[in-house]
Amino acid sequence: MIFQKAGMFVRFRERIQRFMYGRYGVDSLSQWMTYFVLALIILNLFLRSFVVSILEFLLLAASMFRMLSKNIAKRSRENARFLKIKGKAAGWLRREKNIMAQRKDFHIYTCPNCRQKIRIPKGKGKIKISCPKCRTEFIKKS
Ligand SMILES: [Zn+2]
Repeated sequence: MIFQKAGMFVRFRERIQRFMYGRYGVDSLSQWMTYFVLALIILNLFLRSFVVSILEFLLLAASMFRMLSKNIAKRSRENARFLKIKGKAAGWLRREKNIMAQRKDFHIYTCPNCRQKIRIPKGKGKIKISCPKCRTEFIKKS
């Protein structure tokens, strides 16, 4: 009985493998599309918007279409374009986070003489700052 079931499972897996042969399958883009649809489904539990439901359906259909597609070159190009945009977004996010972290720990002062921006750690009391560009000295509280 157990062996019979295992055999059925193997046959089922073989059929799926045959069906997927020559097809594109899952990539980063379809993974992220799936995450996005999941997020939309959760969001729509509260919104209950018809438009969002349509969007969910379209995204799922597009993601299925890409997985089953036999035009592997075109799907790979789409994925590469997606990864490039994703990389740029990640870089921007990292820079923004860096600026936010610096704002917490540093004061940015402007040299009264040459307008050079100078980064000074916070919490050092009254300090004499010497401009690295024009050597002007000025006193600030940090
Ligand atoms: Zn200066």
